[in-house]
Amino acid sequence: MGANGVRVRFCPSPTGNPHVGMIRTALFNWAFARHAGGTFVFRIEDTDSARDSEESYSALLDSLRWLGLDWDEGPEVGGGYGPYRQSDRLPVYAEVARRLREAGFAYHCYCSGAELEERRELAKSQGRTPGYDGKCRDLSDEQVSAYEDEGRDPVLRFRMPDRDFEWDDLVRGSITFGAEHVPDYVLVRGNGEPLYTLVNPVDDALMRITHVLRGEDLLSSTPRQLALYEALAVIGVSDGTTPRFGHLPYVMGEGNRKLSKRDPESSLLMYRETGYLPEALLNYLALLGWSMGDDQEFFSKEQMAEVFTLERVNQNPARFDLVKCTAINGDWIRSLAPAELVQRIIPFLVTADLIAQPPTVEQLAILAAAAPLIQERMENLSQSVGMLSFLLVAPERFAVDVSDLGVLGADAAPTLAAARAVLMELPAWETDAIHQVLKDALVDGLGLKPKLAFTPLRVAITGRRISPPLFESMEILGRSSCLARLERAIGGR
Ligand code: GLU
Ligand code: ZN
Repeated sequence: MGANGVRVRFCPSPTGNPHVGMIRTALFNWAFARHAGGTFVFRIEDTDSARDSEESYSALLDSLRWLGLDWDEGPEVGGGYGPYRQSDRLPVYAEVARRLREAGFAYHCYCSGAELEERRELAKSQGRTPGYDGKCRDLSDEQVSAYEDEGRDPVLRFRMPDRDFEWDDLVRGSITFGAEHVPDYVLVRGNGEPLYTLVNPVDDALMRITHVLRGEDLLSSTPRQLALYEALAVIGVSDGTTPRFGHLPYVMGEGNRKLSKRDPESSLLMYRETGYLPEALLNYLALLGWSMGDDQEFFSKEQMAEVFTLERVNQNPARFDLVKCTAINGDWIRSLAPAELVQRIIPFLVTADLIAQPPTVEQLAILAAAAPLIQERMENLSQSVGMLSFLLVAPERFAVDVSDLGVLGADAAPTLAAARAVLMELPAWETDAIHQVLKDALVDGLGLKPKLAFTPLRVAITGRRISPPLFESMEILGRSSCLARLERAIGGR
C-alpha cells in the first residue's frame, strides 16, 4: 500500500447521523487513494466533547463498512500513525500548542467574548473588516499579570503572517486569500480544549497526508492551515511538505439551497432502511461533482476508482436528485443475480416478520421462485415486503387490501367459482397450464374481457389489484392455498 506515497484522509466528526454529503467526500477520497495505489486514512475528529457521541462514532464505522469503503489505517484497523481517534491524542496537541507558543507562532489572548463582540461592532460601524484586531499579540508582562489577576483564562491564538495566501486548488485552480480576510484565529479554548483549527492540520502533518480533498464549505480554513503548516515545519512537527488541497463542489438540495443535514434525503440511514443498495448509493454519489466520461452513469466503485482523477471533478454545485438516485437503485436491483437479490431482501422480510431468521427451506424456495417476478418492478428492497407478503404470510394472517375489497363484490362470485372449479381439476399445477385453463373458462367460457376476468382473481389470490404476475404467483403459492383463498373470496370474506 502507498507505493507512490499518496495518503488521503476521511476525517468526520462523530456528531449526529452520517449524511450523504459526508459520504460523497469519503467516496472521492477512497477512489483517489485506490486509483493511485495509495493509502486511505480514516480519522475520527472527536475533540468536541459537548457535541461528539459514541453512537455517532459507531454509526460512522458501521456505515463505511456497509458501503464497502475500506480504510487502510484508522479505528479497528490500526496503522503506523495512530491513534486515529483525536480524543486519544490530546497530549500530542498540548505539546504542539506549547511549542507553537514558545516559538512565537501563537500567543495567549485574554479578550472576553463580550469585548471581542464590542470591537467587532465598532469595526463594522467604521467600515473596517471585523476580524480579530490583534490586541493581545504583544502584551507586556504587566498586562499579562493584570489579566491573570482578574482570573481570565486565555485562549491560544495563531499569529497569521501579514501576507496573502495562495494555492493551486486541485479542483478550483488558483485561489488567493488577502491577508485582511484571515485574522488571527483561536487554536485552543480557554479551558484547554484544542479546536479543529489546530488538531486537523496537526494530524494531517503527523499522518503525512499528501492530498486534502474536502467540501467547499471548508475553503476558508485553507489559508489558515497553510500558515499553520509553515509554523509546524519550523517547530519540527511536519516534515516541511504541505498537502495539496482540492475542494469538492457543494451539494444542493431542493429550492437551490445547500443540502442540509436536516433534509430527510440526506440521511444515510434512510437509504439503508428503505433498501437502497450500497453499490447504488455510491454510484449516485459519485455523480455529484464527478463524471466517468462517455455519459456512463452506471458503474461500481471499483470501476470509478480505476479511472478516478480530479480533472473530472466539476467546480459547479451538484444537485441532489432523489428521483435519479432511486432510478439508479432500480438499475442496480435489476443487475443482481436473482439468488443475490434473495439474500438482499431477506433482512427486510425478517424485519417485517414474514420469514424466519434464518429462513426455512420452504421460505427460501418461495423466495427463489418469486425474486425474478419482482426484480423488474422494484425501486428499493423494502418494496419486497408489500410485493411478497401474500406468498409468505400464514394463512390466518392473509387479508385482502381494504381498498381493493370492492373488486370482490357479489358479481365477482360466479367468476371466482368458475375459476375454482377448473383449478380443482387441473392435472399439472404450473403457470402455463393455469393460465390456459383460466382463459378457457373465463374469457372463452364466460365471455369476459381478460381484465374483468382476472382482476377479481388477482385480488382474491394476492390481496391486491397490483401484484407480481398472477399465474406465476399462483404456481408458487400452490394449489391448496389458491383454492382456499378463492373459497374465502366467494364467501365474501
Ligand atoms: N472534521 C472535519 C469535518 O467533519 C473535517 C474537515 C476536513 O476535511 O478538513 O468537517
Ligand atoms: Zn485578545
